[in-house]
Amino acid sequence: MTNITERINSILAEIGSAQLVAVSKYRSNEEIMSLYNAGQRVFGENRAQDLAKKYEDLPEDIEWHMIGHLQRNKVKYIAPFVGLIHSCDSVRLLNAINKEAKKIDRTIRVLLQFKINEEDTKYGFERGEVLEQLQNDQWPECSNLEICGVMGMATNTSDTEVIRKEFNNLYDIFKTLKPNFTESFKEVSMGMSNDYPIALDFGATMVRIGSKLFE
Ligand SMILES: *Cc1c(COP(=O)(O)O)cnc(C)c1O
Repeated sequence: MTNITERINSILAEIGSAQLVAVSKYRSNEEIMSLYNAGQRVFGENRAQDLAKKYEDLPEDIEWHMIGHLQRNKVKYIAPFVGLIHSCDSVRLLNAINKEAKKIDRTIRVLLQFKINEEDTKYGFERGEVLEQLQNDQWPECSNLEICGVMGMATNTSDTEVIRKEFNNLYDIFKTLKPNFTESFKEVSMGMSNDYPIALDFGATMVRIGSKLFE
């Protein structure tokens, strides 16, 4: 077994200037603390209640990211502290987050999640959908949101050509949308344990890594 500090340092060296989001879903507080003690401060969870619980239990200087599908009625559990919501996958969810943020007088940082793979047809904006809504003045009021970029997940496959195509597509969506937002719109969250080297090749600024870190 490799030492956790070595493991994290080798990933950090590989990803260069991209940000590492350590995906700690299903991990115990002890496991998270071992990464914390190795210097990691940004952690991602995919369930709102788990995020809220870990926020309460663990050190205050951890930046917590929401990376999984978020139901509108769960926004209130994480709104007061969440550092970034990667998984904003609908206008209705954006509205719900904005409303909650207003209530607590906070600006919440979010990414727009896009559907870029064939298998996962459930969550995310379609390519073209956001631009269409912006052009038709159907984009919601986002007074208390800082829209920081895009997020996507590639197909879980060993066919790297498929993955390359999907990440290339997400980066292209990012470039197309960028002129419509503020200078905060600069993040491309893509890449997990199995595909992050490809994501980095296609311009990822954030990678979300779980299993490879915790092993
Ligand atoms: C679980 C998860 C990850 C991390 O996956 P690993 O394969 O463990 O690196 C990244 N992003 C999302 C949205 C996840 O749910």
